[in-house]
Amino acid sequence: MPEGPEIHRAANRIRKALEGMVIEDVEITIPRFSESHEQFLGKTVNRVEARGKAMLIHFDNFVMYSHNQLYGRWTVNLKDTAPKKWNRALRVALTTEKHTCRLWSATDILLMEPWELSGHPYLSKLGPDVVIPETTVTELVEHMNDKRFQRRRLKSLLLDQGFFAGIGNYLRSEVLFTSGLHPDRTVSSLSDEEKKVLAEQALFLSRQSFDVPGITVDLEMYDKLRSFGQTRGQARHWVFTRNDMECHNCNSLIIHTRPGGRRLDYCPQCQPDC
Ligand SMILES: [Zn+2]
Repeated sequence: MPEGPEIHRAANRIRKALEGMVIEDVEITIPRFSESHEQFLGKTVNRVEARGKAMLIHFDNFVMYSHNQLYGRWTVNLKDTAPKKWNRALRVALTTEKHTCRLWSATDILLMEPWELSGHPYLSKLGPDVVIPETTVTELVEHMNDKRFQRRRLKSLLLDQGFFAGIGNYLRSEVLFTSGLHPDRTVSSLSDEEKKVLAEQALFLSRQSFDVPGITVDLEMYDKLRSFGQTRGQARHWVFTRNDMECHNCNSLIIHTRPGGRRLDYCPQCQPDC
């Protein structure tokens, strides 16, 4: 599933193609929107925005909301480039003078009036977004101190978009590792210093993975590992997918777990259960 940094990168590509541009052609294959072509044609895109894992395309009187769930993907091409041939169904294609942006496979797509956004069940529950530069450590710590999170374990909270929006599976393992926190710790067990470190690491790793796609390790170390012959996949994470390999910090073997059926890897030495 794409995580915050991937969604924000997709939003950047779509923003460059659509923002300020007029929609000249539209294709919608979703039956319930079969009458909606007119709504798009000739309209200018005011703003493209990612919130958590949702994409919002703002027009004057309406907003197109989409959430990719597991399978949805956006592609951006020059207008005259043939669409990608792959095993995904086209849902929406928006064409401007120069580009076509296509949304594939996603099923969670809505056309909303702007005032409806604040009441949307997914958007209204989102916590602070860790990828956008406006979010601060103080804001995350304050949010963490909310009563409803205190008894929950970090391993489940870090996938909850109401806690930190934008963290997904690989970032969960990586943020816990660089924060030195065991996945079973609860928020109430954290000291003020540990909360601050968790907030700092959530911001730092999410933003680095946005800037340098999907890489969470120290960048100098990454280059060194690559020069030793490791693949991108082998070199890019501290612990995620590195089970039974040596920790880069302490040489202990990384442990693999699957809470809730989703991969979580950690170092038993660097992330003690206390
Ligand atoms: Zn370690």
